[in-house]
Amino acid sequence: MLQCVNNKTIMSKEKEVKEYFVRKGLKLECVICKSHLFWTRTTLMNTTGMSIMGLDWANKHATNYVCDSCGYVHWFLDK
Ligand SMILES: [Zn+2]
Repeated sequence: MLQCVNNKTIMSKEKEVKEYFVRKGLKLECVICKSHLFWTRTTLMNTTGMSIMGLDWANKHATNYVCDSCGYVHWFLDK
């Protein structure tokens, strides 16, 4: 199923799909389908609505780990 090209696991042209670790020894696993393959994107959570509501804690970047198998998005706030 996986193709290994230039030492990178490629399953799509525009995104890199690979395994990630939440912290040392803790591999990110999809809570839905238990897959270990994700691609990432970064979302700026500083929205006008959140600022008006006083949710300053939300004015951060979040890293989204998207399960390549089922598409479930796992959100992690940058510390
Ligand atoms: Zn999944």
